[in-house]
Amino acid sequence: MSTPPNKPGPRRSLDEPLAGAPTQGAEWEAHVAAELAGVSLAAPGDLGTDEWRTHAAEIMEWIARYLEKPEVHPVMSRAAPGSIAAQLPGAPPAQAEPLAAILADVDRIVVPGLTHWNHPGFFAYFANSASVPGILGEMLTSALNVNAMLWKTSPAATELEQVVMDWLRQLIGLGPGWFGMITDTASVSTFLALAAAREARPGLEIRERGMAGRGDLPALRVYTSEQAHTSVDKAAIALGLGHKNVVHVPVDGDFRMRPDALETLIAEDRARGMLPMAVVATVGTTSTASLDPVSEIAEISRAAGAWLHVDAAYGGSVAVVPELQGVLDGVELADSLVMNPHKWLFTPMDCSALWVRDPAVLRRAFALVPEYLVTREQDAVVNYMDYGIQLGRRFRALKLWMVLRAFGAEGLASRVRHQVALAQAFAGWVRAEPGWVVEAPVHFSLVCFRCQPAGMSDADADALNERVMAAVNATGEAYLSHTKLRGRYVLRLAIGNIRTDERHVRRAWELVRGATLGR
Ligand code: PLP
Repeated sequence: MSTPPNKPGPRRSLDEPLAGAPTQGAEWEAHVAAELAGVSLAAPGDLGTDEWRTHAAEIMEWIARYLEKPEVHPVMSRAAPGSIAAQLPGAPPAQAEPLAAILADVDRIVVPGLTHWNHPGFFAYFANSASVPGILGEMLTSALNVNAMLWKTSPAATELEQVVMDWLRQLIGLGPGWFGMITDTASVSTFLALAAAREARPGLEIRERGMAGRGDLPALRVYTSEQAHTSVDKAAIALGLGHKNVVHVPVDGDFRMRPDALETLIAEDRARGMLPMAVVATVGTTSTASLDPVSEIAEISRAAGAWLHVDAAYGGSVAVVPELQGVLDGVELADSLVMNPHKWLFTPMDCSALWVRDPAVLRRAFALVPEYLVTREQDAVVNYMDYGIQLGRRFRALKLWMVLRAFGAEGLASRVRHQVALAQAFAGWVRAEPGWVVEAPVHFSLVCFRCQPAGMSDADADALNERVMAAVNATGEAYLSHTKLRGRYVLRLAIGNIRTDERHVRRAWELVRGATLGR
């Protein structure tokens, strides 16, 4: 034995293999036994619960102060590229470090390098927020650390997921008869939905035979609007369908997929021997929150025998407001639907809700049970590992359950309603200001707008809007993002943070106007 018990030898790089060291089988076993002979059998163990109590109390207080006033931090991090890494040692510590020192570095190095999504002035992308019940749920989830892969590996994790997905289904007004599961992101939910869409054509035998080198397979086509999220394209790429087989259907003046164009494109593809595999409609597109006409799209998809997936990653949440539930009209005709509680339902990252009409197809696409995962009750329960690519799964249902219970249907509705009203107010201020234009219908809590002074060329107005955004974001008080619509640079103000109030939105407008005037 070359080192004393529980004292590891010096680390060496794998680039310099130990000459003559065994790497497998009985020789490796003998090597391990010799090296570890005399190692104490008492566990080194975790840090003690006294340490927990001390530091957990500190962290609770830190979080409380943070949630009371995230505004003390600039909303968009001012860190320069590489500046955070430059403050950190290049190698891991050999010896244990005190938690107090680590937490001090969180404050000193990490926090200034964060963009504060919990800041009420966060209006970029789709704003989101971690609410108090959601944060508490996350804390419990990491403390419990269960793996929700099989029913048996934590019956409550599976059953809570089933129940909470059914509650959410009811909250957004979806009818019964859907199978719900929680994934990490809408990107993964859409990937799973399109994998199911492919498996819904069992005659193609893609699960068994794959797609490569198969002259017998038609091109499998996926139709989605020009405004759809790139997660649709990525799913098609990952499934081996080929990016070229994602057909981007033109949109109308309100950025909605044109059903007539969809119908024509499908007919042309069929005439060329291609197979319309799936259509992805969006309720709340990323750039403008436009609404594809789902009912009409559903009819066309059905006639073509194509799977209809609805991406309501952002927009789905608005359906918790009873008077706005109409945004999901037509979704009951779909085969699958995704919405993200981590976007606009006050649930901390990450939490995406996926429903499918026919779970058997999803199961057919993914179930593969090795002997070590066989359980006696497997035919009587849901084992969520059978419905996706992951085996290990986080217990995300707990935080969502806590959010739904702590706010209740009315509490959720009043918060989302308030944010839609704030967006309406902001759009009103923009429309009332000469030289300013709202560039897309304001369906939800997103306003797309642009400064277009009379007589200014589009190119100069593009540059002006870009400067305005940079100036606003540099204040640290508000954070906007942008998109391009009809080739022109457009600012986006997205409201979705539970702590955002009228004064934050007014302040954002003041900053935008000030930046335009060079103030
Ligand atoms: N779909 C839409 C409409 C989105 O706006 C987004 C992200 O903004 C996504 C999908 C991807 O979401 P996620 O980050 O959960 O994968």
